Amino acid sequence: MLLKSEYLYKRAQKFIPGGVNSPARAFKSVGGVPVFFKKAKGSIITDEDGNEYIDYVGSWGPMILGHAHPTVIKAVQDASFNSTSFGAPTEIEIKMAELVQAMVPNVEKVRMVNSGTEACMSAIRVARGYTGKDKIIKFEGNYHGHGDSFLIKAGSGALTLGKPSSPGVTKGTAKDTLNADYNDLDSVEKLLKKNKDNVAAIIVEPVAGNMGCIPPQPGFLEGLRELCDEHKTVLIFDEVMTGFRLARGGAQERFDVWADLVTFGKIIGGGLPVGAFGGKKEIMDVVAPVGPVYQAGTLSGNPLAMSAGYAQLSTLEKHPELYVELEEKAEYLAKRLRVVLNQHEIDYHMNQVGSMASVYFTDQEVTGFKTANTTDQELFKIFFHEMLKRGIYLPPSPFESWFLATTLTNEMLDKTISAADESLAVAK
Ligand code: PLP
Repeated sequence: MLLKSEYLYKRAQKFIPGGVNSPARAFKSVGGVPVFFKKAKGSIITDEDGNEYIDYVGSWGPMILGHAHPTVIKAVQDASFNSTSFGAPTEIEIKMAELVQAMVPNVEKVRMVNSGTEACMSAIRVARGYTGKDKIIKFEGNYHGHGDSFLIKAGSGALTLGKPSSPGVTKGTAKDTLNADYNDLDSVEKLLKKNKDNVAAIIVEPVAGNMGCIPPQPGFLEGLRELCDEHKTVLIFDEVMTGFRLARGGAQERFDVWADLVTFGKIIGGGLPVGAFGGKKEIMDVVAPVGPVYQAGTLSGNPLAMSAGYAQLSTLEKHPELYVELEEKAEYLAKRLRVVLNQHEIDYHMNQVGSMASVYFTDQEVTGFKTANTTDQELFKIFFHEMLKRGIYLPPSPFESWFLATTLTNEMLDKTISAADESLAVAK
């Protein structure tokens, strides 16, 4: 029963657009009442009615160590006694920058911001300032936050006409964003040739997580690296989801392809609002106050956020076995789910990279935006709600990655498989 959630949702809608502070929370693609939560511990999340769920959303990625991890909570508590903000430099910011550099060696310099959106907006400004070029290439179905430059509808009409996909984004902005197809190097090469000497950056999710989870095909990231070198274009990996998750050094380490700039978010704040962008010293030195590219933030490097993030990252740094365990859990879940899906004779495609995973209800291999869109959304809706009834909280959209945490136990994974078995029996 979701009585309290229903009541809160009605109340929220009166004063908050759609009743939520971020659209993905509104259950638009699955229908029904968004669940309102009041507490969580480890991988168990409890709603306002007292129902408990096994959590595969993890606040959309940051809770890699599970909710309310004691080290993270203690760090926030300790920091809060000294003030919630100074708006002046603090030692924890240096410790954070040193730790990021130790975990991701090509981040020679890093600037803290307050969200993934800010990180990506700032990274492309820096790339433009560094190269003196205007345009950027992004990929259809990749998400880099809600900065104007990223909310451009993909497709040839958008490319040629610069048609914004969100009202409020000007045509002037839209014409500087070019869309290529994920996992398709030819589409990138064509854009680079057509816009010769005017592409400042290619920004990419090295493992896509915003059209479900889609891995890069062998050679894709390497190809982007080569094209960027050839065209003197800055390669930006958006590691807001993958950073510190797919390995200590994120997707860069996992695939051994190294970008010029990297953006982070989510995990780097341990659940507090943080983002960061960083990379080669030579490029980062264009950022104010060293260089002319302006970027700032009153609350950037906030002591609570830095303390939470530092506690989470240093735990991951000190315990490399956590990555091995996460990998084992994800592989176990994916393997068992595939067995169940096969038994139900449902068309599906399952992608799993480290602790990110997605199930698509389709007979196609999902490698990009077009194939992701072949998923049976009606089937997902039923599956989602049946899982929810059985105490499994999945992302409320077929186009969002599941995120696993180190706190998932074998018992929880087995419960998830049984719930999937029962839910698929209802859904098909
Ligand atoms: N980049 C990626 C890959 C993301 O997944 C997200 C958010 O989901 C963002 C950027 C934007 O981050 P934020 O929501 O913190 O602004």
